[in-house]
Amino acid sequence: MNIGIIGGGQLGLMMAQAAKPLHHKIISLDPNPRCPLASFSDLHITASYNDLEKIEYLVSKSDVITYEFENVDLDLISKFEKLIPQGRRALEISKNRLLEKEMAEKLGIKTAKFHKLSDENIEFYPCIIKTTTGGYDGKGQFVISNKEDLKSADFDINKEYIVEEYISFDYEASVIITRDSFGKIECFPTPINNHKNNILNTSLVTKDFPMIVKKKMEEYSKKIIENLDYIGTMAIEYFITNEDVIFNELAPRPHNSGHYSIEGCSVSQFENHILAITNEVIKKPVLLNNTLMLNILGQDNTYIENAKKTNNIYLHMYGKDEFITNRKMGHITFLRNDLEDINQTLIHITKE
Ligand code: ADP
Ligand code: MG
Repeated sequence: MNIGIIGGGQLGLMMAQAAKPLHHKIISLDPNPRCPLASFSDLHITASYNDLEKIEYLVSKSDVITYEFENVDLDLISKFEKLIPQGRRALEISKNRLLEKEMAEKLGIKTAKFHKLSDENIEFYPCIIKTTTGGYDGKGQFVISNKEDLKSADFDINKEYIVEEYISFDYEASVIITRDSFGKIECFPTPINNHKNNILNTSLVTKDFPMIVKKKMEEYSKKIIENLDYIGTMAIEYFITNEDVIFNELAPRPHNSGHYSIEGCSVSQFENHILAITNEVIKKPVLLNNTLMLNILGQDNTYIENAKKTNNIYLHMYGKDEFITNRKMGHITFLRNDLEDINQTLIHITKE
């Protein structure tokens, strides 16, 4: 098939890397002619994401279309919805934190207490205030402990905000889940996610993730993906306290916390995404060994040098032109029999 990909970043690139061995052709659309996917796709269209004429050109060249990020224009997606298995609804919901949490509530899924911010009417402290749309990697968020904090928060009066109860969670974990056009659903082994400066730093996947928590997370995630009538791979983030599972947010696309699956599982999040959107049956992912994925940001040059001197690791560089602080440049994955080895390898790669 000819697969059109809107967005030429690393997610688009890794989708294409999974699609090519399955004999698909890739047409990419991104404003940057030197984006990671451009040199790998069969045809690259340099255009902004709301350039209707260029999107129509992409559509004319593609049998199916996928997007790799949430900032796609909803009206455009509506226009070509039949060609986009991920659909419109998942995008609409995930673009707005209020809609996202309301959906979870309706489905009987636990969330942090929340309400819309109007006239600074905060119902609980401590809380975290986030823009309802457009935020990512912790951008547009304020942690507020009391009324005093509120005075110093630098809100943008043109934006809408959501107030969420601050959760003192034990850890964060995500479900990477795929649904195909036959209604079959598969969940990937659960990564535990650690963030640094609100950006994902590591995802650790082990064989001994608590079963009760995993079951609850997967039950919630299946409800969500079915309710959204979504086809493809998506990620759903949760906070975990003891055995309590609290929904945080969803991303209607393959996700950074699922990159580990490229080498860590019998099938990757990208391959299952491609299978799903091309009307094939998805595969059951099996964890091959304890796996750790480490992100490489613009300031992490030493990781690359150290990684090159380390045995049995997989280094992925996305081919971005400029190393900029906090920009995701690549990632490293490694599989080890025991967790102590995972820690040692991580220390080795991240040492100065
Ligand atoms: P985004 O990833 O879109 O920037 P998130 O809602 O995932 O936004 O928030 C970023 C990070 O902030 C989370 O991964 C988590 O560590 C922290 N965080 C978000 N919401 C809460 C909350 N209600 N309580 C405690 N920590 C939170
Ligand atoms: Mg998040």
